[in-house]
Amino acid sequence: MRAADRTKDTPLKNEIMGSHETKIRELERLNQEILSCMQCPRLINYIRYVSKKKTKRFAKWVYWGRPLHGFGDPDAWLIIIGLAPAAHGGNRTGRMFTGDSSGDWLIRALYEVRIANQPYSISRDDGLTLNGAYITAAVRCAPPKNRPLSGEIRNCLRYLIQEFRILRNAKVYLALGKIAFNSTIWALEEAFGIEIRPRPKFRHHARYFIEDINKWLYVSYHPSRQNTQTGRLSWDMWIEVFKDVCKNFVEKQ
Ligand code: SF4
Repeated sequence: MRAADRTKDTPLKNEIMGSHETKIRELERLNQEILSCMQCPRLINYIRYVSKKKTKRFAKWVYWGRPLHGFGDPDAWLIIIGLAPAAHGGNRTGRMFTGDSSGDWLIRALYEVRIANQPYSISRDDGLTLNGAYITAAVRCAPPKNRPLSGEIRNCLRYLIQEFRILRNAKVYLALGKIAFNSTIWALEEAFGIEIRPRPKFRHHARYFIEDINKWLYVSYHPSRQNTQTGRLSWDMWIEVFKDVCKNFVEKQ
């Protein structure tokens, strides 16, 4: 008998499967809620406008034009938090970090550390799967100039909190950029009823252990064009974060 078969129909396996299925059900419910959210009229108007106007390069696409929910492994040990969908990236394709240069950087890095099954993310049906990671964002609707207003960030925080509660077994939270970093701290505090003191500081490749909940917060610059094309974030700086996270955690999963 193979080792995997030994837990067949045991209470332990039932408990593990039950928790897995509960998470899937809870995520489905949450994702439906996100898809129909209209809390931020400015953003809803903007994503609809962009979806109609499009850009020349994607003139033939039928844009998604709705809020986006997270995606990935419901049993994730790693949660990656971005800023928001890009107007012609996630807002076009219907999946976060899909169809834009930030997605190219993120998925290639996840492929290099063997979390993603392929090095590209171009459409919702491109076959991408993540093993051990879940990708989400501070804000679920593409904001004009990639700049959400503080009220919009606050509005959307409720979804991050719920995701953190559902994916409660995660061990590492990797925040990409300052806005995601702040939202991640607020959501961790709300989701787990803690106060994080002293306050972590935003710095590329910083990591903080949150003792109360036995979890890690990692920080990186966001892989936006603005950062990657100006050299603020090089590929070496970027991939080092992922290698570091995986060196410390993959073997322990
Ligand atoms: S940004 Fe978030 S809270 Fe605002 S409309 Fe979109 S999904 Fe809703």
